[in-house]
Amino acid sequence: MKQADIYEHADRSILENCTICPRECMVNRFDGGEGYCGMNAGLNIASICIHRGEEPVISGKDGICNIFFAGCNLNCIYCQNQEISQRSLLVDDSGMDLNTVLDKISEILSRGITAVGFVSPSHVAPQVKVIIKGLNSRGLRPVTVYNTNSYDKAETLRSLSGLIDVYLPDYKYVTPELGLKFSDAPDYPDVALKAIKEMYYQKGSTLRTDEKGSAENGMLIRHLVLPGHADESKKVLLSIAEELSPGVHLSLMSQYHPTPRVMNVSDLNRSLYREEYESVVEFMNSLGFRNGWVQDMDSYQNYRPDFRREHPFE
Ligand code: SF4
Repeated sequence: MKQADIYEHADRSILENCTICPRECMVNRFDGGEGYCGMNAGLNIASICIHRGEEPVISGKDGICNIFFAGCNLNCIYCQNQEISQRSLLVDDSGMDLNTVLDKISEILSRGITAVGFVSPSHVAPQVKVIIKGLNSRGLRPVTVYNTNSYDKAETLRSLSGLIDVYLPDYKYVTPELGLKFSDAPDYPDVALKAIKEMYYQKGSTLRTDEKGSAENGMLIRHLVLPGHADESKKVLLSIAEELSPGVHLSLMSQYHPTPRVMNVSDLNRSLYREEYESVVEFMNSLGFRNGWVQDMDSYQNYRPDFRREHPFE
């Protein structure tokens, strides 16, 4: 099957003149990966593996089948997955075809894993649809998790409605200067808020779980506290409480770890101090958030992937 044939007409058209994400590069991705994300119209998968390191409600007892996409539509200078998010550092641009991908996922699901996570999917939403529909055509209906940086267009998210069971969006900053400085996206706060509101519109505050406590449907907002930026974290939490509801499910994360790229960036070149993290937790409680998870301060060592290995997180 030719690459273009795996897509429905509307998605083929959008890939020919790409406006999938807010960058709106208008490049033909069938001609290569010349847009900001650097990715062509292929599936662009860097790794498919079982991952046990997400929140308990996402990983479940046995782990989630995570599909890590190569490339990204943000350029976060502190990215913890930079081996695969930056084209120049890609460790496995394997060009897997759809059947190979579906075979790999099917094999993992046959081991009793019940959820499939799409990690960094904002620039490959049509590819996500193709994979989900391919699994469905094989009679497989895993819980689908959209694990996104939230630099998503609301209309792209609307096109995923009915296919995604659980949204797992980051909410990184509310200050445009930080969006520019850290992620090369001054419009990140505006875009992310609109995207998360669309996810909230689709799912509401409830995070429905099965009898084992694994998420089946809903939304869980993630926020990574950055060293030296506890005040920004508090503004993010305030924004969620005011613009959505303190009843949403939240995952507050302390796992930040400096990578070589930020060794000369003040504050980002260190781990989080316990007292700054605790001040954010205290503020979160004062706003009335009551659903979700607060990562403990010693977790960062569990979350550092090595994508050169077959099992990057183990
Ligand atoms: S998905 Fe990639 S090519 Fe398309 S608009 Fe976004 S950054 Fe540009």
